[in-house]
Amino acid sequence: MKKEMICIMCPMGCNLCVQKQGEEVVVTGNGCNRGAVFAKEELSCPKRTVTTSVKTKCGVKSCKTTAPIPKALIFDCMREIEKLQLESVEFGEIIIQNVLNTGADVIVTANN
Ligand code: SF4
Repeated sequence: MKKEMICIMCPMGCNLCVQKQGEEVVVTGNGCNRGAVFAKEELSCPKRTVTTSVKTKCGVKSCKTTAPIPKALIFDCMREIEKLQLESVEFGEIIIQNVLNTGADVIVTANN
């Protein structure tokens, strides 16, 4: 099995090639080890940081997860954020702790 992908870990965007050779997963095209780690994770359990917005009484504020979460949980995470009815929030405030037991929090990323 051979799979090609672009590394999203930095702006270099290396073209990665991932091949399973027996029990071993071999990554080529990566400019650094982060690309190899990313490619292997993409095959087993791909993750993404969720960036979205949350409703408050003062309007809509941007928020994000503090770490990537499994792609399979992204829509569930969005639904958890959508349920919130917040008065007001501050930059950096945790609005959901350990969202869906992923180990990541959801924090506010906007002022006001
Ligand atoms: S492999 Fe390394 S250098 Fe290349 S895009 Fe990924 S993080 Fe950047």
